[in-house]
Amino acid sequence: MQFIDQARITVRGGQGGDGIAAFRREKYVPAGGPSGGDGGHGGHVVLEADANLQTLLDFKYKRLFAAPDGRRGGPNKCTGASGRDLVVKVPCGTEARHLTTGILLGDLVETGQKLVVAFGGRGGLGNAHYLSNRNRAPEKFTEGRDGEEWPLQLELKLLAEVGIIGLPNAGKSTLIAVLSAARPKIADYPFTTLIPNLGVVRRPTGDGTVFADIPGLIAGAAQGAGLGHDFLRHIERTRLLIHLVDVGAEDPVGDLRVVEKELAAYGHGLVERPRLLVLNKQELMSDDKGPELIDELHQVSGRRPLVISAVMGTGLDALLDRVWSELGV
Ligand code: GDP
Ligand code: MG
Repeated sequence: MQFIDQARITVRGGQGGDGIAAFRREKYVPAGGPSGGDGGHGGHVVLEADANLQTLLDFKYKRLFAAPDGRRGGPNKCTGASGRDLVVKVPCGTEARHLTTGILLGDLVETGQKLVVAFGGRGGLGNAHYLSNRNRAPEKFTEGRDGEEWPLQLELKLLAEVGIIGLPNAGKSTLIAVLSAARPKIADYPFTTLIPNLGVVRRPTGDGTVFADIPGLIAGAAQGAGLGHDFLRHIERTRLLIHLVDVGAEDPVGDLRVVEKELAAYGHGLVERPRLLVLNKQELMSDDKGPELIDELHQVSGRRPLVISAVMGTGLDALLDRVWSELGV
């Protein structure tokens, strides 16, 4: 009963380095003993929760995560360098499962929390390890072991940071579609008519922010029932609202008032949430009456409107700039 972002990745621990067979060769030591060093261990693959990430967007492009191998042992009992751990950052709230069995490996909740998902292989032993009274010159050494390799399923319950509100037909779904880079899977949400349309929009920093078209907010608030806890959580989590008004409609000012009223009636602190007033369908505004209408909407709402056309693609960069600055990213 959540909006779920999913990704499938493969994780592979590094291979252990081989041990080697070597003998001391020193000028004044006639029969040098065995001196082959051990191989280094392969690096682990570690998932780490990071509060700066919001989605699994990046895993749609990169799927194999392999930690570096350990190095071979050296002469003079030198142990090879171990492979460094490969740390893969995931958003807080990510669950990692073994793909084929579905076994839960762990839940990464708090920022900084770590989970080893593939152990690196052990390094092999050098011949120095096999010295005994019976065998003063062992040739034996062992190879490094392979690291673990697992297919993983990552799952993240998405929460929208930006909610788009407005009357039906304002262009909410269209706006999400033109802004978003990827569409996460929407799982079995109980209120089909209230399913927000989700989209992930890339920030300038490269990470994704979830935008939700929240059509059910107003209707659901009026009825006061049937809104699941998850849905409320979704709305309450939003840090910014975009109020979209269709300026090609009969009465844009009336439309604006309807939504503002219902927003106030809804409660849950939503009316105090930072909000942008965005006028959509710019090209439907007539040249002579346009500026007047914009002024009036400005007066009535007390907000300076941004003007866009979702269909023509105008004003979208300026809108996103505002969104990122409101979110402080
Ligand atoms: P929603 O109900 O708010 O989700 O609205 P939709 O995204 O479904 O859009 C409603 C209608 O308005 C659709 O026919 C869209 O093609 C149209 N629409 C959306 N944005 C624009 C726009 O910028 N200009 C024009 N002319 N039509 C638009
Ligand atoms: Mg819609």
